[in-house]
Amino acid sequence: MKILFAASEAQPLVKTGGLADVVGALPRALAALGHDVKVLLPAYPGVLDRLRTRTMHSNLTDLFGGPAKVEAGRTDTGLDVLAIDAPHLYAKQSAHPYGPSANVDWDDNHLRFAALGWVASAIGRGTAGAWVPDIVHAHDWQAGLAPAYLALAEEVRPRTVITVHNLAFQGLFDRKHLAKLRLPESAFAVEGVEFHGQIGFLKAALHYADHITTVSPTYAREIQTPEFGAGLDGLLRHRASKLDGILNGIDRDEWNPERDRYLPAMYGAHSLAKKAHNKAVLQEALGLEIEPRAPLFCVISRLSHQKGLDMLLAALPALRAAGAQLAVLGSGDAELTVGFSAAAKAAPTRVAFRSGWDESLSHRFQGGSDFIVVPSRFEPCGLTQLCGLRYGTIPVVARVGGLADTIVDANEAALADGVATGFQFAPQSADALQHALLRAVAVYARSDAWSQMQERAMSRDFGWERSAQRYAALYEGLLARR
Ligand code: ADP
Repeated sequence: MKILFAASEAQPLVKTGGLADVVGALPRALAALGHDVKVLLPAYPGVLDRLRTRTMHSNLTDLFGGPAKVEAGRTDTGLDVLAIDAPHLYAKQSAHPYGPSANVDWDDNHLRFAALGWVASAIGRGTAGAWVPDIVHAHDWQAGLAPAYLALAEEVRPRTVITVHNLAFQGLFDRKHLAKLRLPESAFAVEGVEFHGQIGFLKAALHYADHITTVSPTYAREIQTPEFGAGLDGLLRHRASKLDGILNGIDRDEWNPERDRYLPAMYGAHSLAKKAHNKAVLQEALGLEIEPRAPLFCVISRLSHQKGLDMLLAALPALRAAGAQLAVLGSGDAELTVGFSAAAKAAPTRVAFRSGWDESLSHRFQGGSDFIVVPSRFEPCGLTQLCGLRYGTIPVVARVGGLADTIVDANEAALADGVATGFQFAPQSADALQHALLRAVAVYARSDAWSQMQERAMSRDFGWERSAQRYAALYEGLLARR
């Protein structure tokens, strides 16, 4: 099959979160199954320079206010990319794809990402290049208009899939942009792109796509409820027969403790002593006391309400009283930044906070910590707990979404059977989190139970093969029904 992914991020070119990990890894897993997959992506500054064997794919004379070229190339990791070179939309100097800084959007994001959907639909209809996909697979709101443009064109078209990586980000824009976005007036309807008086890019995709997926079975169920549905639960219930939850994997080349060049010492399940060395190096680098027996908890996360880290701040005094250390890497909300900075300042040898985005440090956190904490209020899949499992860094997670689907709680029965891989807590409160953190500290002190749990966690297989097979089966089903 020929499959076109349309997305705003892809590892290793541009990343603000898990979306980039998925778009960077799943196409390669599908390619390994024999499929021809290309990733359509805006050519933000620097993207073209990082593609090898570049060739011209197609030319567009007018892409929302200027000419554009689509250039084909390949990343060092083997990802086949089609990059939309449209300087009038994408040549903005910023480390962030969506705005001048992480929390501020560009004014023309409606055009920048409508263009992504438009080019995907043009490639899908065969009007932009000779390579014509059987499937157009759009990811999140940024690519949400691709299924809409294709459905509205009423031509022979590829089948379309939208994957929801996070329902909270919906891409809502003023209705006055309708004509500029090349959407007909008739599409501004409940049975169309309209969402509470605005144009909703994700809403459009959920309405027009032939199939909807999200990134875990539990999140697929949750988003059909008012509590997690962000106003779209009614539509999702209506389309429930076309909605599936397929778990994300992790890129086993990128997240492999036996070959991780960021780590002072590479290690595997049978050489965990080297992980202890990584811990000491990390403690030293962060200014924490170099105490081998102090359980070291880490966080690698966007600092946002979704991630529940305010609950971790509330539970921190009890965690410290239990002799633990905490290391946090993240950026985002000012309030949480202030909170973690203050906690680190108050106890610099027990709590460390590194603000910002740091790929290398994220690997060293996984390689040197004992636990990773993911106390999210909602979590479509979550990737850091999966990396944690692979690195023997035991996850402490809220029992929601993909966290519920990927971690086996260390209750007494699971411990006795040797199947526990982490700690879950519910309901989502600081008290419940605190209880789970203290349970984690207690198991850490029982060296036999602890090593059994680490080995079990490291043996879990969260590579992409199984999920890629599920996506391929889904595409085949859609094509068979054409
Ligand atoms: P989300 O997509 O909601 O942010 P995920 O857990 O799905 O959360 O994915 C987060 C990804 O971003 C992981 O690969 C994680 O390692 C990475 N990440 C998050 N924060 C940082 C940071 N400050 N520095 C480096 N990598 C980070």
